[in-house]
Amino acid sequence: MTLDHLRRNFLQKLVASAAAVPLLSPYRTFAQADRASTGSHPGTTLRVALMGLGSYAARVAEAMQSCKRAKVTGLISGTPSKLQEWGTKYGVPEKSRYNYDNFDRIKDDADIDAVYIITPNAQHRDQAIRVAKAGKHVICEKPMAVNAKEGQEMLDACAEAGVKLLVGYRLHFEPKTLEVIRMRNAGDFGNILFFQGLSGFRIGDPSQWRLDKALAGGGSLMDIGIYAINGARYMVGEDPVWVTAQQTKTDPVKFKEGVDETIQFQLGFPSGAVASCLSTYQMNHLDRFFMTGERGFAELRPATGYGPIQGRTHKGELTQPHAMHQTIQMDEMAGILLDGNTPVVPVDGEEGLKDLKIIDAIYAASETGGRRQLRLSK
Ligand code: NDP
Repeated sequence: MTLDHLRRNFLQKLVASAAAVPLLSPYRTFAQADRASTGSHPGTTLRVALMGLGSYAARVAEAMQSCKRAKVTGLISGTPSKLQEWGTKYGVPEKSRYNYDNFDRIKDDADIDAVYIITPNAQHRDQAIRVAKAGKHVICEKPMAVNAKEGQEMLDACAEAGVKLLVGYRLHFEPKTLEVIRMRNAGDFGNILFFQGLSGFRIGDPSQWRLDKALAGGGSLMDIGIYAINGARYMVGEDPVWVTAQQTKTDPVKFKEGVDETIQFQLGFPSGAVASCLSTYQMNHLDRFFMTGERGFAELRPATGYGPIQGRTHKGELTQPHAMHQTIQMDEMAGILLDGNTPVVPVDGEEGLKDLKIIDAIYAASETGGRRQLRLSK
């Protein structure tokens, strides 16, 4: 069976399952609308080079096989054997395979519109700036950078180069998440009062880059706690104005100076809503968002895993069909980058920068246990 056959089969199944379940959300995303139509869109495919061919890039590359509007057309890696293997697997010709020394040459590669940076966190800033200077759009994994200062530098470089900067916030396109947001906007929960975000797992191999401050920029908060930060914002629908935080460490050998093991933090929102969140590398079974308002509640559990996301509200189970997050994300990002579409929940550099400002404030607050004021918008 050819790739086109596979893709068509997948899309047919997706459209059939979408038709079987009434689309409850008026936020019918671009990708949903596009899949439901029969028209083709010549010349509107987002051609993406993947940078950093590790475990998450492998997931993205596989998911992109089912994309209707995005395609892997370039590869950037420090490992020659991966370039060879992935190049063959995804049909990327040698001329569009690069390493970290020579990828500035993508400037002259007419088959690449955007670079998706999926490398260790501390590398994102420099790589994004180089991609921007090469005149290509930047899609960057979370956390966008390791602090707000670096994040701002990325925004500035992209603005100067006239390219867009997006962050790989895949849950911003996830159907059950969008349904909760739709219900909130419709007033179904009444005024939001409280959000709880639990994000964590027990991390293994002590030698991995995630436990190396120089590559990770921090610890659990950078990697997994950011889901609770970002989730608090899109679930409550506001940006927090203050934060408090407490840090605990039970294993200072594994979690060295500057690498947080467990952080609890609280956020306060302009409406008076509050959030209580946990970020940890030391406990399993933590992937839950809970939100309650004056008239109802929503729970997502799992809230951020690769899916299916599951959830319920005071009105019953959420039944929106599951599709691979990265497939929807990349089709939606094609709409944003090529057509100027506006997503329901932003995925741009400003959005990534807000989370970095909160991360900076959480680390600072956890030093003293005091409250830090936040000013996320300019
Ligand atoms: P991996 O360790 O699996 O892959 C990272 C890749 O980066 C490596 O395979 C390597 O690719 C490249 N790399 C370049 N320099 C280094 C270095 N010094 N040490 C290690 N790797 C290096 O990490 P992940 O794929 O899990 O994570 C990458 C990024 O993606 C992170 O920012 C992470 O937060 C994010 N992520 C996002 C997820 C999401 O759901 N949105 C899920 C998982 C991760 P090569 O050999 O090709 O150079």
